[in-house]
Amino acid sequence: MNQPRASLPFHLMIKPVGADCNLACEYCYYRGKRALYPGSDFRMADEVLEQTTRAYLEANPAPEVVFGWQGGEPLLAGLDFYRRAVALQAECAAPGQRISNTLQTNGTLLDEEWCGFLRAHGFLVGLSLDGPRAAHDAYRRDPAGGPTFDRVMQAARLLKETGVEFNILATVHAANVGRPVEVYRFFRDEVGARFLQFIPIVEPVTAADGGVSVSARSVSGKEYGRFLARVFDEWVRRDVGTVFVQTFDSALASWLGGPAALCVFAEECGRALVVEHNGDLYACDHFVRPEYRLGNIMEAPLARMVDSERQQAFGRAKREALPPACRECEYLFACRGGCPKNRLAPQYPGEPPSNHLCEGYRYFFAHIDARMRQMADLVRRGRPAAEVMQTSPAAGAAAAPPYAGTPRNAPCPCGSGRKYKHCHGRRGR
Ligand code: SF4
Ligand code: SF4
Repeated sequence: MNQPRASLPFHLMIKPVGADCNLACEYCYYRGKRALYPGSDFRMADEVLEQTTRAYLEANPAPEVVFGWQGGEPLLAGLDFYRRAVALQAECAAPGQRISNTLQTNGTLLDEEWCGFLRAHGFLVGLSLDGPRAAHDAYRRDPAGGPTFDRVMQAARLLKETGVEFNILATVHAANVGRPVEVYRFFRDEVGARFLQFIPIVEPVTAADGGVSVSARSVSGKEYGRFLARVFDEWVRRDVGTVFVQTFDSALASWLGGPAALCVFAEECGRALVVEHNGDLYACDHFVRPEYRLGNIMEAPLARMVDSERQQAFGRAKREALPPACRECEYLFACRGGCPKNRLAPQYPGEPPSNHLCEGYRYFFAHIDARMRQMADLVRRGRPAAEVMQTSPAAGAAAAPPYAGTPRNAPCPCGSGRKYKHCHGRRGR
């Protein structure tokens, strides 16, 4: 099939074994997706891999195409699967087209042979680790209920020793949210990680009266906001430029007036799709449900599904369904109402649902505002953001309002809909 090109770059997360996994983490949002494919062996067939590779490379107008491998546990596909994948990528790439691979793993199947392959092909590995032993083993268990910490730490050592580039994906939940600095220092000092992601666990539970609450494992907005703020304080004091925390990078991009680096804080959704093991294409990893299935990669051109009205409506819904509190919020430019999957219940009857994490987002963004202004000002002046570690927040806050240079009566570039002078250009802000 000769593929048309999509209108804009997009990203595919590929599930070569669907929801199949060798662990049984209690908070996993993907395990239940096995039910979508009863009787399946959950292995991507060669022809599906080939079609996915060709279609993705032909349809994506991005200068660099990133193949994101995820599960379940994607290493269950076996090393030969990935050997075929990289060979197909080389075969199908257009002249000059850059290709990279990321792979998210629980680490328990990694050995030297895997690491040799991952290093040789420049894979960026995301390792799932929730912090020190007690924090990690609280919910990340094997199918027999056993702990997994030692096996994941062994994987981290192996990745380091063999020179595989890796980052840590830590979920923030009831068992670690109260220990932010300990968790952060553990990753920095004991694991030796330089790239960190902190993903909040928010699991909605419908009560008998129809109301929505969250599971005991979940974090409240307030807890998550305080967790991020305490980590930020430790980071901004000594680690800017040497340790990279995705949420902070995304915030800096927003304070610089650019698009957020994380889809959670982007204005719209819709450009990060999922391909299941049988070629089914879904709107997003958190919306792998029959009503968000766009078609199958073996049957329809990828670009047509990516650009379909249904997918565009899914993307726009994030912005169009913002509740009034978000539209008025001074941090809308950095938050954008957060991920729609966490918008659980309306604040007032008749309104669209608000984000469960809102209180924490507000707290966190207010907490980092002065330091972010300083860093944004340094970057605009061509200085390293790391110089923020030598200065006081108050001086920077006065020197560098966000979006400096915007005419006072112009709409604020943050997208709030208010005039700059009433929003980010407010004096004394
Ligand atoms: S629904 Fe959430 S995870 Fe999916 S693209 Fe939107 S913000 Fe990202
Ligand atoms: S902080 Fe809260 S009110 Fe502000 S944009 Fe985010 S979710 Fe909306």
